[in-house]
Amino acid sequence: MTDLTNLTIAEARKGLRAKSFSAEELTQAHLDAMEKANAALNAYVLPTPERALEMASASDAKLGKGEGGALEGIPLGIKDLFCTRDVRTTACSHILDGFTPTYESTVTANLWAEGAVMLGKLNNDEFAMGSSNETSFYGNVINPWRRDGSEAPLVPGGSSGGSSAAVAARLCLGATATDTGGSIRQPAAFTGTVGLKPTYGRGSRWGIVAFASSLDQAGPITRTVRDAAIMLGAMASHDPKDTTSADLPVPDFEAVVGQGVKGLTIGIPKEYRVEGMAPEIEALWQQGIAWLKEAGAEIKEVSLPHTKYALPSYYIVAPAEASSNLARYDGVRYGLREKGSDVISMYENTREAGFGAEVKRRILIGTYVLSAGYYDAYYLKAQKVRTLIKRDFDQAFETVDTILTPTTPGAAFAAGEKSGDPLEMYLNDIFTVTVNMAGLPGMSVPAGLSSEGTPLGLQLIGRAFDEETLFRAGQVIEDAAAPLSKPADWWSKA
Ligand code: GLN
Repeated sequence: MTDLTNLTIAEARKGLRAKSFSAEELTQAHLDAMEKANAALNAYVLPTPERALEMASASDAKLGKGEGGALEGIPLGIKDLFCTRDVRTTACSHILDGFTPTYESTVTANLWAEGAVMLGKLNNDEFAMGSSNETSFYGNVINPWRRDGSEAPLVPGGSSGGSSAAVAARLCLGATATDTGGSIRQPAAFTGTVGLKPTYGRGSRWGIVAFASSLDQAGPITRTVRDAAIMLGAMASHDPKDTTSADLPVPDFEAVVGQGVKGLTIGIPKEYRVEGMAPEIEALWQQGIAWLKEAGAEIKEVSLPHTKYALPSYYIVAPAEASSNLARYDGVRYGLREKGSDVISMYENTREAGFGAEVKRRILIGTYVLSAGYYDAYYLKAQKVRTLIKRDFDQAFETVDTILTPTTPGAAFAAGEKSGDPLEMYLNDIFTVTVNMAGLPGMSVPAGLSSEGTPLGLQLIGRAFDEETLFRAGQVIEDAAAPLSKPADWWSKA
């Protein structure tokens, strides 16, 4: 039998239906791989092998009768930001220690309803704040990719670094992730995987630990564009429990994969040619343009003039919403409680011990920009900039169908390289935050390797609720980019 962990979701689905292997065998192969890898990569914070095998055996029973959902028997990893009933959920923060939800997030409930199997909970930056998975209470995640000729550990991107590392290292067939400013697309770019942040409102945020509610959206990280389409189809839904989820039908995303880009116009925003961008990123972008042109698309320069304000305004809006969302962690209702002499000192001691440095920084910034006297100068102004960013995209999409940019200004960096400098770290999101500010869908597709032999991604940005065009164009890039060789497996031998 071929190595079951190397299959794509589409291939595994076919093999399960043809009874070439069982869901239990497929799940066991992943559990074995996880066990060998976790000391080296730290991708899972909580493997759930018993639940996985139970779910797999239920899937086998269904498949045996010719029944089953769209993801029947497909083993997935779940970012620890998704509440999972009776399974510890911490957002990788000490403050949620021991929190075991009594409910299931809508997105994961949708996946289980389609037959998916949960392998375990995946590591992430604490409360999804970060770009390198170095702020997790459970320690850093290590990228399965290394630079040519080097054993120095690289970051897997963040905040969904457990998801990206696990998918790249074959520790699951696909993973859930969330994206507030780039946390699906940037880690996907750093690990040679596909990451899709859907339109704001495409899916439900109910039961996902909130970071910045007007920006957060859940999406898949997978190894192929087709797999992303399959997973998104199962994750997305209208949900009466989340009033920001859109009451729109979920299209058959997979049906458009392979339709190509003939007749589409692709926009190239000149403002994304930022100062100091590595020449190899520019070259990758030009290569992407050439591939899409060859496949029959028309290329057109567009202007998104407010791009340069996106990052500064994101770092006002996101912390402001975070400071409000995180106020609920006070030692009373969830997780950790530290003793104090009175209730105020109990709050203080709990928060002091429970939150990490980056989370505290965000709460302080957020509280400051929302405070009397500063609200108009910072928060209100950032909201106005947000409207202008959205307007830039609206105007561009009058003449183009999708926009192509690099996903990140560079390839995966070394662990520790940027963790001492928050501004350096924030700059990683320069190409991704605009999409969240405007509520649009964005996808990162692996497009090549850096001069150091590590993956690089290209980003496609679409009109609201038009993920389908992203899947069409993404497939063209995936086909054209020589299929990225998978990272050499050092972690299971470590
Ligand atoms: N890196 C960005 C931040 O730290 C985005 C994180 C995310 O998308 N969750 O805020």
